[in-house]
Amino acid sequence: MALLNGNCSGPEFSDDGLSADEMINSGNGLTYNDFIILPGYIDFTPKEVDLSCHLTKKIVLNTPLVSSPMDTVTESDMAIALALCGGIGIIHHNCLPEYQAEEVHKVKKYKHGFIRDPIVLGPKNTVADVFAIKEKHGFCGTPITENGKLGGKLVGIVTSRDIDFLEGANLKTTTLEQIMTKLEDLVTATSDITLTSANSILEKSKKGKLPIVSPTGNLVALIARTDLKKAKSYPFATKDDNKQLLVGAAIGTRPEDKERLGLLVQAGVDVIVLDSSQGNSIYQIDMIRYIKSTYPEVQVVAGNVVTKKQAKSLIDAGADALRVGMGSGSICITQEVMAVGRPQATAVYKVSQYASKFGVPIIADGGISSSGAIIKALSLGASSVMMGSMLAGTTEAPGEYFYVDGVRLKKYRGMGSIEAMTRKDTVGSAMSRYYHSEGDQLKVAQGVSGSIADKGSVLTYVPYLITGIKHGLQDIGAKSLKELRDMMTSNELRFELRTHSAQLEGSVHSLFSYEKRLF
Ligand code: NAD
Ligand code: ATP
Ligand code: ATP
Ligand code: IMP
Repeated sequence: MALLNGNCSGPEFSDDGLSADEMINSGNGLTYNDFIILPGYIDFTPKEVDLSCHLTKKIVLNTPLVSSPMDTVTESDMAIALALCGGIGIIHHNCLPEYQAEEVHKVKKYKHGFIRDPIVLGPKNTVADVFAIKEKHGFCGTPITENGKLGGKLVGIVTSRDIDFLEGANLKTTTLEQIMTKLEDLVTATSDITLTSANSILEKSKKGKLPIVSPTGNLVALIARTDLKKAKSYPFATKDDNKQLLVGAAIGTRPEDKERLGLLVQAGVDVIVLDSSQGNSIYQIDMIRYIKSTYPEVQVVAGNVVTKKQAKSLIDAGADALRVGMGSGSICITQEVMAVGRPQATAVYKVSQYASKFGVPIIADGGISSSGAIIKALSLGASSVMMGSMLAGTTEAPGEYFYVDGVRLKKYRGMGSIEAMTRKDTVGSAMSRYYHSEGDQLKVAQGVSGSIADKGSVLTYVPYLITGIKHGLQDIGAKSLKELRDMMTSNELRFELRTHSAQLEGSVHSLFSYEKRLF
């Protein structure tokens, strides 16, 4: 162990800091803010730190980061980006079952570098339509299919070179079939092509676009040379045996959720999260048993729980992982309204102490507000962390950006907020039938609706978090998450409680003004 290498064992050191057990059992329930981890001995670089972990009994992630099944956090874009970075996204269920299954399907069929939903036009569209696309999206390379839709038979392609010199022509009457490069001259490839081969086809043909077609000639995707040139590889992406990205999906515990579950399994979902604030219920136990007997290959995350007794019920029923946290979420008013819950650091430690005896991993869910909080959750026994607010406001989070006082924001709301429970939009018109079946009963909100400042892309933000976690583990002297856990259980990992003034000292203070730039 790292501390032993630093020659720091022996009784004279045992009163320096507290073990996890001493700290958690020292009095009141604790939050991440209430304590700090004491540094250890460094004999490796942050780059060498291994962050692989178990999400469930069978699923291993390369990064312990999971996105929350919330309608302002996780749909396919988030799940793809997070899986590329080594974590996993859980698609929310505040939508029709077919919509959720399609989002799962998009992640499973994702191939890096392929434009999955290219803008497509038909032969009778006009050049003016291409200019409108250019105006709105900034590009004009558009595949042309018979029916003008993705999936239709590919008949041509129009790019900027085809329309740049048409200024004299009447743009509203010139149809695309008059000016497009036609089928007989098209260079195409089928969807089993690798990015390297696609690159060499584009190089040889000197074309900017490569339409990807099915064996029957129907358009399934598009590859753009500009994307290939800047394509980064993601060696730590979480993938299944077929090299497809891993993805999870949330469901409830109502009878109609079994139908939803069937669609999700058909779409290739890897892990199901039973989404409830209080998981220790007959409904959830029945649902775990149903899933385990009907789809034994699907991993089930049960929860949420915060006590050992709750954990026991769900582990006995067959849960493959537990989601821990009640009332700790940034948008949460559960503790205020329901008077139940538990401070999150204590909840994570207590449940993981019990669950580890059965090899059941813990996902620390809620209250993660920095890379430091992630490290603290992992140091108390969590295998991974689930994040809502940390990932909301990114490019990949669902929803459009808007401005308030010049600040670019995205909406972030609790799934138990009135706004989410009464969601009315293109996908949610029949939502209440599927999600909250209380009919006309008065709704009691457990969450609020708010906004989060633009954080840029997950593909930039998550690598920052990963690097931060690795630096933290280096300071602690743990070369892997497994080593961190071993240090905790052997009491080598030392903690200290923080008074209110210690917390103030541990954050920026005594400055007139400052800029907090994280990366
Ligand atoms: P839920 O679906 O578990 O519970 C809603 C209500 O339906 C509960 O009264 C429950 O007992 C009941 N119910 C569930 N299955 C039933 C069945 N088969 N028959 C009869 N009644 C049944 O959802 P929730 O706990 O209200 O949570 C809603 C959303 O809000 C979730 O996304 C959850 O993650 C989130 N939330 C999380 C927390 C937290 O602290 N982690 C707190 C509040 C809300
Ligand atoms: P220009 O008008 O400058 O020639 P272009 O049409 O050649 O643009 P590219 O530079 O190839 O466009 O692509 C710019 C971005 O737009 C790329 O990230 C690419 O993924 C995306 N893109 C290009 N064509 C489409 C399309 N038909 N549908 C969706 N995205 C596309
Ligand atoms: P530039 O890159 O020079 O700004 P561009 O974006 O129009 O222009 P390309 O996409 O290479 O460049 O298009 C050049 C010509 O090749 C256009 O006439 C276009 O219709 C045609 N073309 C593009 N892709 C293909 C393809 N896969 N097969 C056949 N022709 C293609
Ligand atoms: P955050 O990461 O602190 O923003 O918390 C996200 C977590 O809050 C989710 O993963 C859920 O467990 C929980 N949550 C989601 N919606 C609600 C809600 O409406 N009320 C309370 N908790 C919620």
